[in-house]
Amino acid sequence: MEKKPFVTLEQLREMKKTYPTPFHLYDEKGIRRNAQKLKEAFSWNPGFREYFAVKATPNPFIIDILKELGCGVDCSSETELLMAEAMGYRGELIMFSSNDTPAEEFRLADRLGAIINLDDFTHIDFLEKTIGHIPETISCRYNPGGLFKISNDIMDNPGDSKYGMTAAQLKEAFRVLQEKGAKRFGIHAFLASNTVTNEYYPMLARVLFEKAVQLKEETGADIRFINLSGGIGIPYRPDQEANDIAAIGEGVRQAYEEILVPAGMGDVALCTELGRFMLGPYGCLVTTAIHEKHTHKEYIGVDACAVNLMRPAMYGAYHHITVMGKEDRPHDHKYDVTGSLCENNDKFAIDRMLPEIEKGDILVIHDTGAHGFAMGYNYNGKLRSAELLLKEDGSVQMIRRAETPKDYFATFDFSGLFE
Ligand SMILES: *Cc1c(COP(=O)(O)O)cnc(C)c1O
Repeated sequence: MEKKPFVTLEQLREMKKTYPTPFHLYDEKGIRRNAQKLKEAFSWNPGFREYFAVKATPNPFIIDILKELGCGVDCSSETELLMAEAMGYRGELIMFSSNDTPAEEFRLADRLGAIINLDDFTHIDFLEKTIGHIPETISCRYNPGGLFKISNDIMDNPGDSKYGMTAAQLKEAFRVLQEKGAKRFGIHAFLASNTVTNEYYPMLARVLFEKAVQLKEETGADIRFINLSGGIGIPYRPDQEANDIAAIGEGVRQAYEEILVPAGMGDVALCTELGRFMLGPYGCLVTTAIHEKHTHKEYIGVDACAVNLMRPAMYGAYHHITVMGKEDRPHDHKYDVTGSLCENNDKFAIDRMLPEIEKGDILVIHDTGAHGFAMGYNYNGKLRSAELLLKEDGSVQMIRRAETPKDYFATFDFSGLFE
């Protein structure tokens, strides 16, 4: 499918007058519409809740849109918990799905009354020693190992992933946790990332539902919720077809009817911790071409670099690029689109066919709404960009200012250095 930006060249020219490029821009209308569709897809399950994976887009103004639609938050660290607290989240609206967890983070999660999702069997003791008790509501993360396949396609390799407990550990964990006072249980698993297929969630649901029935029989634990976690992907490439969330919800419903209902578990609530699916397509990185270079290849240098969007450099990930205003021109130039880091992998595109680009052209790099700005860093002394929100009424709100050199130097105390 043709990928079109959610913003026009005229709007971007107007924004550039106030906010210099690069910046990340988010689409409130798209975020709302998509979140509403997710809610509808799972409306058959009365306890359903999406806990937005804060790490994907840790901006309170974005999270506030989802909060209005009833979403909770999935936090993975102390600062994410602090952000949730500052936004008024408490108790079971916070899922704390961390791993290799420092003691202070368990303390903070407990103080906020968050649901703690244990990544490992040894964390039971660690948690008890740290906070002095075991919470009455607790969740455990499952890793069945092996390869996760759909038909004959390998989706991912849980056997090689650091997360979660083995089946034997999970059973033992439920037994021990009950002894220590836990009363209400959840099960969580994240077995494949960025899946662009309607089959992943229903397949994962089957694995978790069967495990839940088995654990209930074996340990008598009162299983209240099953957490399907993240992993629903988005079509980064124009030739990929977007997931149909209604079909995914229906696939999970069938598994629920087949497995949980007959086992007398028809009251189990489902939850999700989606990040990419909630925000990915509803953000873009806006950047300006500032140089062209003709050597052994044709290069376009832009004013953004990998610190603003790390995925291409880190995973070789594809992000579609639209040269604004030139959508209908022939894509007859082969370019590497680069940033300015002293790293040869700082390229947003390699050998990409695009229309002829001139200095000053505005480029939209698509699908940066999740795991985009969030993965930013300061290598080469580069600064994080601003984040802007294109509101439903067409107005623009700056929801995070760009960093300045002062921010970069803020962690030094220069007193004493130049005396
Ligand atoms: C990263 C993560 C998510 C979100 O993953 P997406 O691929 O963005 O949907 C959810 N849960 C946990 C525990 C994660 O680590």
